[in-house]
Amino acid sequence: MNAMTPITRNNLIDRLPSVSGRYVVDAPLRDLTWFRVGGPAEVLFRPADRQDLVDFLQACPDDVPVTVIGVGSNLLVRDGGIPGVTIRLGRGFADFEVIAADGETLIRAGAGLSDVKLSMMARDAGLSGLEFLRGVPGSVGGALRMNAGAYGSEIKDVLVAARWIDAGGNIGSSLTADLGFGYRHCGAPDDVIFIEALFRVTPADRDAIAQRMQQVSADRNLSQPVTSSTGGSTFANPPGARAWELIDAAGCRGLVVGDAQVSEQHCNFLINRGNATAADLETLGDTVRRRVLETSGVTLRWEIRRIGIHATSADRIGGGA
Ligand SMILES: Cc1cc2nc3c(=O)[nH]c(=O)nc-3n(C[C@H](O)[C@H](O)[C@H](O)COP(=O)(O)OP(=O)(O)OC[C@H]3O[C@@H](n4cnc5c(N)ncnc54)[C@H](O)[C@@H]3O)c2cc1C
Repeated sequence: MNAMTPITRNNLIDRLPSVSGRYVVDAPLRDLTWFRVGGPAEVLFRPADRQDLVDFLQACPDDVPVTVIGVGSNLLVRDGGIPGVTIRLGRGFADFEVIAADGETLIRAGAGLSDVKLSMMARDAGLSGLEFLRGVPGSVGGALRMNAGAYGSEIKDVLVAARWIDAGGNIGSSLTADLGFGYRHCGAPDDVIFIEALFRVTPADRDAIAQRMQQVSADRNLSQPVTSSTGGSTFANPPGARAWELIDAAGCRGLVVGDAQVSEQHCNFLINRGNATAADLETLGDTVRRRVLETSGVTLRWEIRRIGIHATSADRIGGGA
């Protein structure tokens, strides 16, 4: 290395296998998350297709952390960014196929497909069962990991099986019963990257399906700050209670930290008013949790996934001085 060579973080990119997809070094993640906050990915990898992902995982050095993200609608990426490789599934994982077998109708959907698009494709094919996904702005992969749900239905209710790739690049599949689903929870090992889902659907009248989806959409526009920079429900509802009611009772509606605010419209939503940092949002969430514990004795569980490292960390990505 000569005196002019910049010192980079172990030149991670030089240690990664060649791929047919795309690597981006120091990729800004704020543009890829709904909150619009957070530091960069040390390396962002968009695999071209399934084989590219398998090849990458098989050849990626063991000491390189690998994180998968969907479309970032349930993510708070911390200001120091994400070390290692962050994987985002895109077009090569957005397939959609209707399968009729043994008197059943199934939909095979790639993990990179958006939930809203999937619900619309099912509607256009005259297939009912996925209308609730019209209200979930994530990807199929994120919906599997979070057991996403709305309007009385959850992913686990319509899922037959999911296909995945593990950290060693091995492809496997699991039946719904083996995925350890619970409320906004999936028990699959953390290193599993979902690549595909098989859903059970029912042929039905297209107009009736469309009407249900319009209702879902209209309800959401009324009750949630859907045009704000937000991460959806911040905390899971505790057994027998609603998080928003506990937050309201603790006097947190509209509470502000920096440019982060508890939504006035739905107080289980945090919003970035424009210039919030991830630290503002996390501090606000922690303050809400503390106040709810003090007033009701209930410890709220974060539903939003907080990932990456703090800006104060010496290991922050692309940090400069
Ligand atoms: C306005 C708004 C409304 C919302 N309403 C709802 C709602 O009604 N119901 C609901 O359940 N959620 C709701 N959410 C939250 C969010 O949309 C869901 O949790 C969604 O399933 C997250 O998907 P994603 O692709 O955005 O995942 P991300 O937010 O990117 O990631 C979430 C988690 O999934 C993991 N993940 C992502 N892709 C994969 C993959 N391929 N394999 C393995 N793990 C993966 C990530 O590592 C992370 O842990 C809402 C969010 C917003 C912003």
